[in-house]
Amino acid sequence: EVGESGIAIALADRYGARNYHPLPIVIANASGVWVEDPEGRRYMDMLSAYSALNQGHRHPKIIGALAKQAGKVTLTSRAFHNETSGLFYEKLSRYTGMPRILAMNTGAEAVETAIKAARRWAYRHKGVPRDQAEIIVCAGNFHGRTITVTSFSSEEGYKRDFGPFTPGFKVIPYGDIAALERAITPNTAAFLVEPVQGEAGIVIPPEGYLRQARALCDAHRVLFVADEIQTGFGRTGRRFACDRESVVPDMYIMGKALGGGVMPISAVAASDEILGVFEPGSHGSTFGGNPLACAVAIAAIEVVEEEELAERSELLGGYFADRLAEMASPLVREIRGRGLFIGVELHTAARPYCEALMRLGLLCKETHETTIRFAPPLTIERAEIDWALERIRRVLTGA
Ligand code: PLP
Repeated sequence: EVGESGIAIALADRYGARNYHPLPIVIANASGVWVEDPEGRRYMDMLSAYSALNQGHRHPKIIGALAKQAGKVTLTSRAFHNETSGLFYEKLSRYTGMPRILAMNTGAEAVETAIKAARRWAYRHKGVPRDQAEIIVCAGNFHGRTITVTSFSSEEGYKRDFGPFTPGFKVIPYGDIAALERAITPNTAAFLVEPVQGEAGIVIPPEGYLRQARALCDAHRVLFVADEIQTGFGRTGRRFACDRESVVPDMYIMGKALGGGVMPISAVAASDEILGVFEPGSHGSTFGGNPLACAVAIAAIEVVEEEELAERSELLGGYFADRLAEMASPLVREIRGRGLFIGVELHTAARPYCEALMRLGLLCKETHETTIRFAPPLTIERAEIDWALERIRRVLTGA
């Protein structure tokens, strides 16, 4: 392809590392659920940057907060205080119901933070012998790309030739409560789990799994750590995916939509006892909790609340999934969804269908070969979902 799109793609191919395989589309402008390429072709964004754009592209309130803070101060480091970070901690504390917040930048960093907190908590509060703490995780997990987080991935392609890895993790099947019970030992510090597995292809655990896991953790003094980085802030039709089973974890790990698709910001929310394990000097990040990201995050949470994005997700997600099921496409093996977090698993490779949808103006991405993930901004309107359904129908049924 020539033109500005072609140049942008050629430059990325020529100079960029090849650690992604993007669809051949260049997004030059974006607003709400719509994006535009340099040639002026419009597309609907049904990926939302892996759920980092729950509030839609460039939400005016979030961009307003960004501009206002950018006109004052953007970075102080944690060597000094600023006027914004405390307000953000207060806002997120109220939203999560947790008394303390620790802010980082990326999801993987927040996961690392939770692991550090859980290990220290195990040594200092549970009496686990030094360097013996174990953390239980689930097969099919995705928690990020650092070496430690990669250490407990069950995906060969994420791990190959990146060793040696960090010890101290035990992988059990997802959704299997008996396996969790068997895996717990006196040295278990935490159970780290995605309440819905996103990258694995929108995998939903059996009814009651989270509640039973919570009860097991309580019985054995194991921390229940919920990675809500992709599922939080309304994505699954609730504030947090744990809410569906009325489960309150010991730690929430958050990222993505916390920054409203504008700034990278992640956080861990937990009790005084758990986050109290960090004394000055034991953990940190130069940009963690910076005033620019915090100002954006306050606005991002307010948008989720004011626009009732969790409720919208529940309502419109149900509508979307029902219409998908009615299509009865022979290509489709299974439709899994929680709110506007929908996986359509095909009998065959999903990539060609994502490319066909792209040509019709709908952007989505395959995950794990055979699953198409539909996860639009939660600000999407019903009429826009109908617009998308019409294109999906054409591609999946050939009609
Ligand atoms: N945890 C979950 C559940 C995720 O979905 C992701 C990203 O997809 C991460 C952690 C990692 O976040 P980041 O890419 O910001 O490091």
